[in-house]
Amino acid sequence: MKPAPFAYHRPRTREEVDGLLAEFGGEAKILAGGQSLIPILNMRLAAPAHVIDINGLADELVEPALLGGTVTIGPLVRHAAAEGSQLTATALPLLAQALAYVAHPAIRSRGTVVGSIAHADPAAELPAAFAALEGEARVRSARGSRSIAAPDLFVSHLETSLEEDEWIEEVRLPVQGVRGSAVEEFARRHGDYALCGVVALAEPRAGSRIVLALAYIGMGPAPVRLELPELTASDVAGDALEDAVRTLAHEQLEPEDDIHASARYRRWLAERLGVRAARRAAGALEKH
Ligand SMILES: Cc1cc2nc3c(=O)[nH]c(=O)nc-3n(C[C@H](O)[C@H](O)[C@H](O)COP(=O)(O)OP(=O)(O)OC[C@H]3O[C@@H](n4cnc5c(N)ncnc54)[C@H](O)[C@@H]3O)c2cc1C
Repeated sequence: MKPAPFAYHRPRTREEVDGLLAEFGGEAKILAGGQSLIPILNMRLAAPAHVIDINGLADELVEPALLGGTVTIGPLVRHAAAEGSQLTATALPLLAQALAYVAHPAIRSRGTVVGSIAHADPAAELPAAFAALEGEARVRSARGSRSIAAPDLFVSHLETSLEEDEWIEEVRLPVQGVRGSAVEEFARRHGDYALCGVVALAEPRAGSRIVLALAYIGMGPAPVRLELPELTASDVAGDALEDAVRTLAHEQLEPEDDIHASARYRRWLAERLGVRAARRAAGALEKH
């Protein structure tokens, strides 16, 4: 199938994007890498009257940049550029770990980091990484700009808290520093959306204690950051971690039955993968 007819716009500046969204608002869609939007248009799951292609924006950074202790990612930074960047490798290994699970190289060569977050698919890796890292989205419109923290950005499946005239001009992720990280997921084939996945961050605390945060993929309408109670290294190696993850998976996650897996199976995966990711993230701490 081909998309329903639409008017095509190719602005050269961020201000022109603001102007187009101010004029067309809810009738318009931003086109970034097109790896989600184009299939949606082709299948006529959406039929916007206007498509605003931001790929012609001039002077946009094509790689992540370090600004004031924060990794800043502009709207045209492709997955592949972020994955291969030296800055990501040193300042934000979790981002590279998560990107390795996103689709296939051909899709990562075109898809953008900001587009993945704006798309707000709870089955996608980057919204979960963004939630785990407590990132913020810099959002703008002709009315001005504002920051939206990760917990306030994702409303539900494919739904963010952006107003109709707003778009994301960049995402900001705090440098990982001494925190260890890991990503685990289970998909039937590598590159498919996972039946369940989890992003883990481990932070050292005084007295050899560890705080672990987990953000799940495909386990509810939106990714959420869940913190486990402070644990010791021997807790992490033993039953205490398994008990903590089991409790969290039962109390906080909302998996659904679908044709791919039952909610019960997904919850079981969430426990196993959560424990595995938490142990790997805590193990990465020892390398610092
Ligand atoms: C076969 C296949 C397999 C895939 N597998 C995975 C996978 O395993 N994991 C995964 O995470 N993803 C997967 N994807 C999706 C892929 O990662 C997309 O690239 C990504 O979801 C969207 O990024 P994009 O730049 O292509 O955005 P687009 O497709 O251009 O846009 C997606 C949505 O975000 C909006 N948008 C884009 N940029 C902005 C912005 N700056 N401000 C506001 N709104 C914006 C658009 O209007 C649209 O609604 C897969 C895609 C395909 C085709």
